[in-house]
Amino acid sequence: MEFLYVILGSFLAAFLLFVAIILIRAAVFRPKAQPRIDEEPVKFDGDAAVSALQQLIRCKTVSYYDPTLEDDAEFEKLIALLPTLYPEVYRVCTLLRLPDRALLFCWPGAEHTAPSVMMAHYDVVPVEEKGWEKPPFEGIIEEGVLWGRGALDTKVTFNGVLSAANALIAEGFVPQQDVYFAFSGGEEVNGLGAPHIVDYFKENGITPALVVDEGGAVVEKVFPGVDRPCGMIGIAEKGMMNLTLSVASDGGHASAPLAHTPIGELSAAVCKVENDPFPMHMTTPAAGMFDTLGRHSTFLFRVIFANLWCFGWVLRQICKKGGEINALLRTTVAFTQASGSQAPNVIPPSASVTANMRLNPRDSVEGAMARIEGLIDNERIRLELGSHMEPSPISEVSCPAWEKVASAVASTWKGCIVSPYLMMQCSDSRHYGEISNHVYRFSAMDLTTEERRTIHGNNERVRLEAVKRAVEFYIRLMKQC
Ligand SMILES: [Zn+2]
Repeated sequence: MEFLYVILGSFLAAFLLFVAIILIRAAVFRPKAQPRIDEEPVKFDGDAAVSALQQLIRCKTVSYYDPTLEDDAEFEKLIALLPTLYPEVYRVCTLLRLPDRALLFCWPGAEHTAPSVMMAHYDVVPVEEKGWEKPPFEGIIEEGVLWGRGALDTKVTFNGVLSAANALIAEGFVPQQDVYFAFSGGEEVNGLGAPHIVDYFKENGITPALVVDEGGAVVEKVFPGVDRPCGMIGIAEKGMMNLTLSVASDGGHASAPLAHTPIGELSAAVCKVENDPFPMHMTTPAAGMFDTLGRHSTFLFRVIFANLWCFGWVLRQICKKGGEINALLRTTVAFTQASGSQAPNVIPPSASVTANMRLNPRDSVEGAMARIEGLIDNERIRLELGSHMEPSPISEVSCPAWEKVASAVASTWKGCIVSPYLMMQCSDSRHYGEISNHVYRFSAMDLTTEERRTIHGNNERVRLEAVKRAVEFYIRLMKQC
């Protein structure tokens, strides 16, 4: 009997110790030091910046996968406007025009050894005009909001970069190092503008010490238990691949089918893939995000995030439903297209389904394809790889370049929590992975969930206050360059 008490007693002691460890770890899992905040106010002409953006929006720089649909004159119209909108930039900086509508400005610094690159694109995606409440290319301002395609993606940051430089040059500021403004006019169609600029850098032995392109933003409600706005800086982006699965058959009439039709075989394959998700990986960007934002979460979530060594299963449970946290931690597969027969009573001679996959930094195009092939395990199904790109390299966070961007974010949107993250979409900045491991993806604006939805959608618009904030961010960043 006494022996039983001893056993029970030790179990109880071990359990209490376990609970104590978990609670202590949660209790000391407190916010880390935030980036340096520059309290000095910035000066610039906010109305001029708004009016410049308005004029950029009035240029219909729509890019299409079919270039014959593009109106080259509209792109030239925008470029011709720039010297009037940003005269100081044109007085001091050089402009190099590279193929595929790439524009590369160089603002000479006192030294030329560690340049910075500020990126944006000035092409926009097409509009479905009837879905808009206001015309998309007139730059209408109403109640403190500027309407138009490109207002957020990314004419606001294109204007932010040039307006900031214009203001700093006017006050006589000279950057410590060269600053390049690298703009592409075909980002939305995976154009070659950005690769041309990267080639130029390579040919001239220019190694950027800092690259900033579109990506995260200052957003709310992105992390469980965190109410404060978060400045999300992407330090890597996932890869992408389109994979088509197809089955050929003899076709024939649907009245006497074989046991499995091509569509039946493909359906079985789709189920196998969906039921066996790719393995989860806590990569550096994801770990950095958990370690930063997790510390600002409520106590209950901190218990989980401070103790992932024993609560990993909770995370796996959350990820089972899919969604953003899941996409952060693993390669995702979304079946997006399917094709079969032309008529309901005809067995398709060939049927196919296409998956759009987003690759975790730990996976590769080849490895992901091999995994899908293994899962499907059906020789009759043919796999065809469509357009694809590998995940980007991961940029550093313990370095002056990160500090500069983080400090500019924290100083511009005071009170936000600055955090690294993994970007799910692809941007032009992936091309810079070859020449710099200081590539940061941050769209200089604060966005509500509703505003985020207008990007590539109807009624894209920007608050005038956000237009000015974008300029402020670049001034604070360029002052450190
Ligand atoms: Zn876009």
